[in-house]
Amino acid sequence: LAVSVAAKSSSGGWPPGPIPHTVFGEPCLDFVNSRFADYRGSGAEFDRLDIAEWRHWFLARWNFQAPIRVTAETIDQLKQVRSLLRELLSSPGRVSEQNIRRLNRRLAGSPSKWHIESLPAKRSQARLAIELRPMDPGWDSVIACLIVSFGRLATSDGLARVRRCGNPDCTFLFFDDSPNGTRRWCEAANCGNLVNARRFRASKRRNRRR
Ligand SMILES: [Zn+2]
Repeated sequence: LAVSVAAKSSSGGWPPGPIPHTVFGEPCLDFVNSRFADYRGSGAEFDRLDIAEWRHWFLARWNFQAPIRVTAETIDQLKQVRSLLRELLSSPGRVSEQNIRRLNRRLAGSPSKWHIESLPAKRSQARLAIELRPMDPGWDSVIACLIVSFGRLATSDGLARVRRCGNPDCTFLFFDDSPNGTRRWCEAANCGNLVNARRFRASKRRNRRR
């Protein structure tokens, strides 16, 4: 399946394109954001997980090995995991024992093995890479990688930097990588401008009434 990935990213229209414009440094965030509401408040929802082009983009972006074609059952599983991850990412309190069990069950569905390989030598120094690889690549292993991605955030102070966009109509979760932790929007050019313009119009109306 040949799709050009970078060229087709959408930038704020509706309905949106298959490839997101706003992405973050953890696959669990890109995955959770694959379903979202219209940030302009129409109430419409969009689900990129159902689109083969998005799946291709997502797998390539994170170097995950799984078939782009999926059964309805796999899509259903992926959507369940996405709901669970959204719940965990948007309520950074304690993770319930029930959810811990759910995560461990999913992880157990994809055993992995250590793999060592040589990289091209640098200044005549031999270089090696070592990594955990799934025994059986596929969507179960992608799910395990997504849980590991959540785990990276949850076991560092990263989870405190995951927040919901300040536009009440927008369901995007973003990672705040600003130095002071003051980021408010998934995308300032879309949600920031929209909310600021609304506030400006509302304050003008108030002033006129006075
Ligand atoms: Zn937003």
